[in-house]
Amino acid sequence: MCGIVGYIGSQGAYDILIQGLKRLEYRGYDSAGVALVDTDGCLNVHKAHGKVANLESVAAMGNTNGTIGISHTRWATHGEPTDTNAHPHVSQTGEIALVHNGTIENYAVLKKALTDHGYTFRSETDTEVLVQLIQYIKDTTKCSLFEAVREALLQVEGAYAIAVIEKGDPDTLIAARKASPLVIGVGENETFIASDATPIIGYTDRVIYLKDNEIAVIKRGEPLSIMSLDSNEPSKIDIQKLKLSLAQLEKGGYDTFMLKEIFEQPATLRDCLRGRITDDGARVVLSGVELNKDKFLECERITLVACGTSWHAALIGKRLIQDFCRVPVEVEYASEFRYGNPVLGPKDVVISISQSGETADTLAAIQIAKEKGAFVYGVCNVVGASIPRNTDAGTYIHVGPEIGVASTKAFTGQVTVLTLLALALGQLRGVIDAEKVREVATALKAIPATIEETLKCDAEVQTLSRIFTYAHNFLYLGRGYNYPTALEGALKLKEISYIHAEGYPAAEMKHGPIALIDHEMPSVIIAPSDSLYDKIISNVQQVKSRGGAVVAIVSKGNTAMNDIADYCIEIPSVPECLTPLVASIPLQLLAYYIAVNKGKDVDQPRNLAKSVTVE
Ligand code: GLU
Repeated sequence: MCGIVGYIGSQGAYDILIQGLKRLEYRGYDSAGVALVDTDGCLNVHKAHGKVANLESVAAMGNTNGTIGISHTRWATHGEPTDTNAHPHVSQTGEIALVHNGTIENYAVLKKALTDHGYTFRSETDTEVLVQLIQYIKDTTKCSLFEAVREALLQVEGAYAIAVIEKGDPDTLIAARKASPLVIGVGENETFIASDATPIIGYTDRVIYLKDNEIAVIKRGEPLSIMSLDSNEPSKIDIQKLKLSLAQLEKGGYDTFMLKEIFEQPATLRDCLRGRITDDGARVVLSGVELNKDKFLECERITLVACGTSWHAALIGKRLIQDFCRVPVEVEYASEFRYGNPVLGPKDVVISISQSGETADTLAAIQIAKEKGAFVYGVCNVVGASIPRNTDAGTYIHVGPEIGVASTKAFTGQVTVLTLLALALGQLRGVIDAEKVREVATALKAIPATIEETLKCDAEVQTLSRIFTYAHNFLYLGRGYNYPTALEGALKLKEISYIHAEGYPAAEMKHGPIALIDHEMPSVIIAPSDSLYDKIISNVQQVKSRGGAVVAIVSKGNTAMNDIADYCIEIPSVPECLTPLVASIPLQLLAYYIAVNKGKDVDQPRNLAKSVTVE
């Protein structure tokens, strides 16, 4: 969560920082700030609650000169999103400025100690403790800024990515990370730091992903130095080539990133599938599986760990792996798994799923699984993120940057990769017959075109959305493969329209939620013509008998539901295991248009952030 951008070079830092913050704003947007050291060595700090645009208005009235600076867009964990709590935080003497992503868990103890030493605190944040501690160490030991930062970081517990600059020194920028992402962009006579690579694109394609417990000292005119925080020994500098383009970060003519991302799913799934199914549709080839055949042959159980939308993809993955591979599969919330004392051993495979590859709980779950001897596989979108670097093997979903906070194309990318994975494992273990592989793989290859077809329901869904804009509650029901689709549909609506929505297995509804149904509570029922179709028809009847309006997502040509449901949206017919990929499209659009009708900011919904890098 939150975005950090830093710059040192020959250009004015301010514009680069602001532009970078805008690209990172999807990560957190409750307040923002910037600190610059000008050529006279003066430290100027500007902060404002709200979005980056507010910061620009505030900063316009002050000094924004300087070719070195740090900046931040916050997702508050400690203290409300106010001007004072916004980052950068400045030490008591006004000499050191710091931005921080993460949480300092022992901040209360440190704050007490520093208060006893006469330090007064302005903000309610955990972050301020760190900058005051650095100042305290520097003053009492008369060491350099680098040494003080290093020493302070050895004393804090928790997660952080930080950037630090100092008054009187326009030539030094320090950055460090532990369990929060930080990327360094290496340009010609200029260096960038950022929470992800997006602010760096357009300036340089040479990047270094800082590793956990590393500290970088970036000095003007000197080679970059990266050290291990623990040993203080220099780390190997591994410069990688960035493959993102500016066009991928723009809205491309759409009103919002979310709508663009919904509509680009045919293209992103083409990228996701490229080279992974043989031309004749007979085989699935995933290098992560090919290179680790032994682990997948030996494994006796697979556990999928994820959070949020990725957890919904994991539930679909469970069904796929169970059906095609006949191995016991469990699905866990990463945040529960990490504290649940899981029973795991060398015969376990843990598959971790995260769009950003930086989700703190999922990273912690990976760590535990590795400690217990499990083989850990990652399913991730962001190339080079912490999850792919910390797992034994994995598969990228390759859907390009997802900027809208509500995940759409990453969800379908995850489900696609999990389908490929289930087929690959079924083939490897000799469980699935060749005919079935061919049937599913051929339909999966055609999924981009099928989704293109599905997206034609756009205008119809937009019209339908107007009927339900002012509903206060929604029920989403599905069965089998589409129970997780119901969960995901409900989550989309909640996230961006703030309407309460509950996703439920359709048959379970009668054990509780049916009590909520009345003429004011619409139900969205995912009812493609699959093996449970007849069963779900009865569930729809139960809703209708209680006066609830029903929107049904049905397979093309299925007219039976027309007589029962109030509104039907048709989707193309696909094999049952692929129905979530297709059925989720009208659900994404329905949530989108209801939120737009309500005038909500769909790309940056309140209280949420894209990449959840805090616990
Ligand atoms: N814990 C810090 C705060 O609340 C940083 C949060 C963030 O990552 O944006 O200010």
